[in-house]
Amino acid sequence: MNRTEENGKCKICGSSLLTIYAHTAKCNECGVLLYYPYPEDDCTLVSNGEGKRWPRDEVLSWYSKSSFFNHENFTDMVKFTMDEECKGKKLDILDYGGGGGQFALVCKSLFPESNIHITDISDEALLEEWSSLNVQIPFIDFNNDDRKFDYIFLNDVFEHVSDPVFVIKQLSEKLKKNGKIFIDTPKQFWIYPVTKLISKPLYTKVLRGTVSTAHLQIWSQKSFELVVGEGNLKIDKYEELSEYTMPSDFYMKNMGISNPIVKLAGRIFYRNAKWLANNKIMCILSRRNNG
Ligand SMILES: [Zn+2]
Repeated sequence: MNRTEENGKCKICGSSLLTIYAHTAKCNECGVLLYYPYPEDDCTLVSNGEGKRWPRDEVLSWYSKSSFFNHENFTDMVKFTMDEECKGKKLDILDYGGGGGQFALVCKSLFPESNIHITDISDEALLEEWSSLNVQIPFIDFNNDDRKFDYIFLNDVFEHVSDPVFVIKQLSEKLKKNGKIFIDTPKQFWIYPVTKLISKPLYTKVLRGTVSTAHLQIWSQKSFELVVGEGNLKIDKYEELSEYTMPSDFYMKNMGISNPIVKLAGRIFYRNAKWLANNKIMCILSRRNNG
């Protein structure tokens, strides 16, 4: 896809009504917040980290840092999506953009007979320590692979893909009859309009911390519903919640916050985020016509 031609239009709804600010564009039609101009590099998916071709020690250190958070996040995701009726079934599950492969351990501890596949643009991100419970589909083969799945999980992935409409259509085609897709992905919340109104420098920091060449789109509910419809899918279950995968200092470093008072405020915010801000969408999708 030619990104230069695409610039000037919202990649979700096609509208030209974009408000461009710093390294972002906000669509006034569907509300999505985009990294802008669109990067030239049209990779379909960047894994949970910041890029492709990782050295092994960096991969290990990255996933070790997030593993405590993700152990609980993954348990919540599986329980949100699957129930006791799934017990004893040889379900085919795909962890799309699964990175290190930790999800399979958590999922198989709840559903030992399930068969977990993984694919990620960074094939090498799959840690050998966790690989034994994953069937890896090399990313280059994924589009033409004809396996179909009962459940497809996208944990913190949908904000990374450069062409969300393509990905949702592709995954929709890979569902078995009555199959379901789980997605959790960041959404905008009150801190964006409030900081934009009261402090442009703080707003710029928020944008720097949340929109990047890795986090290409931060959803609004409307833009998310639009893309779901493009995939011929419907929303079966939808929640907004507060969830983080890294310690608070990680996010503040990304935002370039070093002032100790602002840092303290940031830590208090992070600790109380459960009551203060729903920064994520968590939902289950299924095909509109279940043929
Ligand atoms: Zn739009």
